[in-house]
Amino acid sequence: MRLIIFGPPGAGKGTQAGLLETRHGITQISTGDILRDAMAQETDLGKKAKSYIDAGELVPDALVRDLSEQAIADEGHDDFVLDGYPRTDQQAEWLTAFLESNDTPLDAVLSMEVPDDVLVRRLSRRRVHEETGETYHLDHDPPPDDVDADLIVQRSDDEPETIQNRLDVYREETEPLAAYYEERGLLVSVDGTGEIEEVFGRVEAALGALDR
Ligand code: AMP
Repeated sequence: MRLIIFGPPGAGKGTQAGLLETRHGITQISTGDILRDAMAQETDLGKKAKSYIDAGELVPDALVRDLSEQAIADEGHDDFVLDGYPRTDQQAEWLTAFLESNDTPLDAVLSMEVPDDVLVRRLSRRRVHEETGETYHLDHDPPPDDVDADLIVQRSDDEPETIQNRLDVYREETEPLAAYYEERGLLVSVDGTGEIEEVFGRVEAALGALDR
């Protein structure tokens, strides 16, 4: 299946996309993860992206176009879930053209619906393992005792002053894409509140309904 998982920061896109990968073999393509890897390795791309990411701004469209198209091509154009891409009108247009040129249209855009107060609480309590990238939540899913606490860090863009900016950028630049995909008959809303497994059950149900 070719999917986009769509929604604001903190909606659980990465978590749900990760479950789609491990349980259904649908490869997660996360532009945020690719950019964070590039930053960690201090590549040209990583150096260019860093100031935007740290400020909670979007990285310029031109910088993410190639990496997303390359990642889709690497996956053979089938069975992927895009997590964090597209985020602007231009990215959506590019993606549509790219998929059309390969005759590999999307099956669905899963829109994760979560109220703002829940998003802020999730993001501010989120922690990541510096080396593995594993994500935790201090209240619901704390790091296990055998994990070195020094390696558990807060993403720089999860700091309180940056969270609000990311939500504002989302509302302004990315949320309008819901209408773009709705017009194309692709948008499927999923209630993203509650426990991870509960939400995943809704994701699976939404995908099951597409197959009928
Ligand atoms: P994420 O892990 O998806 O929340 O992405 C983290 C950050 O990476 C975002 O706040 C942006 O700065 C940047 N980023 C990720 N994907 C994109 C994209 N498609 N377009 C522009 N910036 C992006």
